Amino acid sequence: MRSTTPASERPASPAPAPVTAVLPGPAPAVVTAMLADIDPARLRADVDRLAGFGTRHTLSDTTSETRGIGAARRWLLAELQRAAASSGRTGELAMTAELEVHGVAPDGKRIDRAVEVVNVIAVLPGSMPEARRRRYYVLGHYDSRASDVMDATIDAPGADDDGSGTALVLELARVMATRSFDATLVFMATAGEEQGLVGARRHAEAAKAAGLEIAGVLSNDIVGDPSDPRGGSHRGEIRLFSEGVPATADPAAWQLARQTGAFADAPSRQLARVVAEVAALHELPVRPRLVFRPDRFLRGGDHTAFNEQGFAAVRFTEVAEDYDRQHQDVRAEAGRSYGDLPEHVDAAYLADVARLDAAALAHLANAPSAPGDPQLMATALTGDTTLRWTASPEPDVAGYEVLRRATSAATWEHAQDVGQVTEATLPLSKDDWLFAVRAYDRDGYRSPAAFPRVARE
Ligand SMILES: [Zn+2]
Repeated sequence: MRSTTPASERPASPAPAPVTAVLPGPAPAVVTAMLADIDPARLRADVDRLAGFGTRHTLSDTTSETRGIGAARRWLLAELQRAAASSGRTGELAMTAELEVHGVAPDGKRIDRAVEVVNVIAVLPGSMPEARRRRYYVLGHYDSRASDVMDATIDAPGADDDGSGTALVLELARVMATRSFDATLVFMATAGEEQGLVGARRHAEAAKAAGLEIAGVLSNDIVGDPSDPRGGSHRGEIRLFSEGVPATADPAAWQLARQTGAFADAPSRQLARVVAEVAALHELPVRPRLVFRPDRFLRGGDHTAFNEQGFAAVRFTEVAEDYDRQHQDVRAEAGRSYGDLPEHVDAAYLADVARLDAAALAHLANAPSAPGDPQLMATALTGDTTLRWTASPEPDVAGYEVLRRATSAATWEHAQDVGQVTEATLPLSKDDWLFAVRAYDRDGYRSPAAFPRVARE
C-alpha cells in the first residue's frame, strides 16, 4: 500500500545553508545605488505586456503585430534597442541589440515543422580591455506553452513561466546599460525552451565553436511568485540550482572526484556560492536557497544547454512552484482555476529577485577572472597544503585569497589573504579541508573560486 502524508503534516523544506561572510564589507556603494533603480512598476508592465501577446509558443504566429511569438520578439528587441539608445554609450562600448535567428528543422519531438527559433540578445561590452572577452549572461525564455506542448494557437500567457524571467532580463538591461563594468554582460531572452531548450542550445553550441569565453550564466525561469500552494509565502528566498560535477566530466574526472571528495566544486557551484555571498554582503531582501543538484525532477531549463558545453550556468526558480499554473490551459475545472496568469506574479518580489541577479552580475563583471590552472600539490606526505596558480590578467588585480571549508561544509568558510603571489603554503592539512583560490582587485571585488586540480609534480 502507498503511504501519503497529508499536506498539513508535511515538514517544511530544508532551511537554506548558512552563508559564512567570506566577502568582506563594506558593500560597494555603486552597486547599492544601481539596485535602487530597479523598478517594480516596469516589471509589472512588462509581465502584463508579455502575457498580452496571447501565446508566445515557439511555433505560433509570427506575422501578427499583436499576437504570437513574432510580435513578442519584435517588442523585446524594440525595448532593448530603446535601452541601448538611452544609455549614452557610443563607439566600441555601445550596447548592441539584435535578433539571433536559428533555422531549425523538424526533430521528431517538439518541433514538427521547419521554424525559425529566434533569441533576442543585447550585449554590453566590458570597459576593461583585459576583461572584455569574459562574458556573463542573464537570461530568461520568452516562449510559452499550454497543456498540449504542440498547441501553438490556444492562449498560453506564460506570465511566470517565463514572463517573469524575461521581464527581469529587460529591466537589468535598462538599469545596467547606463553603467560600466569591466567584463561584458549579455542580456538574452531565448525561444524554444519549452520545445527542448532549442534556442539556448543553439546559442551555447555556437558560442563554444566560436571560442567565446562565457564565464557564468544566470538563468531565471519561474521567478515571480513567492506564494506556496500549500499556504504561506517564501518572500525572502529563491531557489538556486547548480551542478556539483560538470556535465562534461569524463570517467577520470569522476574518479578524481571520488578520490578527493570534490563532488560540490564545479564552476557552476562556485557561481552559485558567489550569488549567496553577494546576497549576504548586500543584505538583500531575497537570498538564494542553494540546491545542490542541476535542476528539479521531471523538468529542464536553459542553463543545462550551457552546462552541456562546459560553461558555468545556474538556475533561479521560486521556492514552491504551483503546477496548476504552469503548462496549463487557462480554465476553471471543479472549482479550481488553472493557467499562468499575470495576477499570480508579485512585482515587488520579482524586483527583489532582479536585484539579486544584478548585484551578482555587477560583482562578477567587475571582479578579476578566477586564477588560471589552480593546482593542489600532492607531491609529499606533509601536514601542509601548497597551492599554485597563474596570475589573472586584469591590471587592477591586488592579490589572491586562499578559500577553505571543511569537507562536510556546503559553502566557503574562511578566506585567507596571501598577497600578490602565485603560490602559497598554509600550515593546514590537505586531508581535512577543501581549498580554492580567488583573485581580488583594488576595489575589493572578488573572483569566483578556482578549484584546484591535483598535481603530482
Ligand atoms: Zn520555463
